Amino acid sequence: HCCTSTGCQAANSLGVKENLDKAVEETGMGDRVEVVGVGCMGFCGRGPLVQIDPMDTLYEEVTPETAGSIIHALNGGTAEPVQGDSQHPFFARQMRVVREHSGKVDPERIEDYIALGGYQALHKVLYEMTPETVVQEVSSSGLRGRGGGGYPTGLKWATVAKMPGDQKYVICNGDEGDPGAFMDRSILESDPHLVLEGMAIAGYAIGATHGYIYVRAEYPLAIKRLQKAIQQGKKYGILGSQVFNSPFDFKVDIRIGAGAFVCGEETALIQSIEGGRGNPIPRPPYPAEKGLWQCPTLINNVETFANIANIIKRGAEWYSSIGTEKSKGTKIFALTGKIRNNGLIEVPMGITLREIVEEMGGGVPDGEVKAVQTGGPSGGCIPASLLDTTVDYDSLIKIGSMMGSGGMVVMDKETSMVEVARFYMEFCRGETCGKCVPCRTGTVQLYSFLTKILKGQATAEDIEKMEALCYMVKDTSLCGLGMTAPNPVLSTLRYFKEEYLELLKQPQ
Ligand code: SF4
Repeated sequence: HCCTSTGCQAANSLGVKENLDKAVEETGMGDRVEVVGVGCMGFCGRGPLVQIDPMDTLYEEVTPETAGSIIHALNGGTAEPVQGDSQHPFFARQMRVVREHSGKVDPERIEDYIALGGYQALHKVLYEMTPETVVQEVSSSGLRGRGGGGYPTGLKWATVAKMPGDQKYVICNGDEGDPGAFMDRSILESDPHLVLEGMAIAGYAIGATHGYIYVRAEYPLAIKRLQKAIQQGKKYGILGSQVFNSPFDFKVDIRIGAGAFVCGEETALIQSIEGGRGNPIPRPPYPAEKGLWQCPTLINNVETFANIANIIKRGAEWYSSIGTEKSKGTKIFALTGKIRNNGLIEVPMGITLREIVEEMGGGVPDGEVKAVQTGGPSGGCIPASLLDTTVDYDSLIKIGSMMGSGGMVVMDKETSMVEVARFYMEFCRGETCGKCVPCRTGTVQLYSFLTKILKGQATAEDIEKMEALCYMVKDTSLCGLGMTAPNPVLSTLRYFKEEYLELLKQPQ
């Protein structure tokens, strides 16, 4: 298995794959060995990765020059690349539900997906379940939206299902834009059929025959693989008219976003699909009532849909046995920053930050953890003293951060937390759509305050004014982008205030 996802491709895994193929040919081992381009194995910081199945031997940082030796090693030779440890805590502590097939199947072959039980859940709902029992099963599983807010998925489905109207829509939000986050990209690149199956099940449950996947233009490989997956689904009678020869029709179209972070906000995303400018609009009415083209619309993110097939196949009881009382199932995180083991991990809810950062991530190379940022520009910085906090929706909010979509950036003692706050504010300042005053001008003013502090020109009064402005922007902005933009400032003020005070203007 040679990873052909974006991370490994950036390190020339396609060159690796080519030379693996050549070596198979040269050694005449074609009858015993097949080189398969697979999706993301997760250990992105050590790519390109090659894994030998079924021996579970993992090779890291493989180059086109060293690739051939891996094939020769199967014949008694010596493999040149570093052999990784597939039992390393980075892998061993994971619980792979959504990423079950990632790195094991060729994402461009529907046959691989079907061979591992793919589309059985869709077949099951069409022939053994009513739309009501599907909604009930999703509700009983306790699944909450993985896009950040954590809204109960079953409740959302039930709301749209109850809405009157012949035309309803399913939208998959793949507009992942948090700095440091790449969970959805990896799912789409590694197992696109899993997302399509979840969407089709949702369509059946709520009474929709048309779905859209909104993917950001910066994810060309995900778009290409989705396009291919949709074509293959149509060919096999799984997408389109009369799915699995049933009376249910479901077609899926892709819409490509132009790279605006705000289009991850559901009302802005709907505007964008309709061809308008991606500006949020006030809610209510919520999309569940009046969404795309004014019709009832269900919007979930990529990871949420990717959980559905397993819930149907293995049952709500199984799913709800994973995680904590109020946060069920697993969550994927992009573990990045000042940490030894970078990459994607899928862990059960309820694991502690310490287990993730120190055991799976291997801690900070040559240093100590200072903080962990979760939730991207909407989240907050959690100090090392709170690393024993469990990772679930409510615990992270309690300490001033949030789960978000799954970005997790580790910072060491050298990191300036004021710089971090300014980095995220600069991001929000650039991404505000400008529709409402508090966010449009507030993010600019907050950025100016932070710059003034970093230049050593601010007074204690400036910090007070900045904090008050944070609350004003939070309380009065129209959409989630503005409402949460001050969070990185507030959390760094809460836990690292001394760093702000040290930077204050010195009396002359
Ligand atoms: Fe636009 Fe910001 Fe207002 Fe949202 S909060 S509508 S992003 S200006």
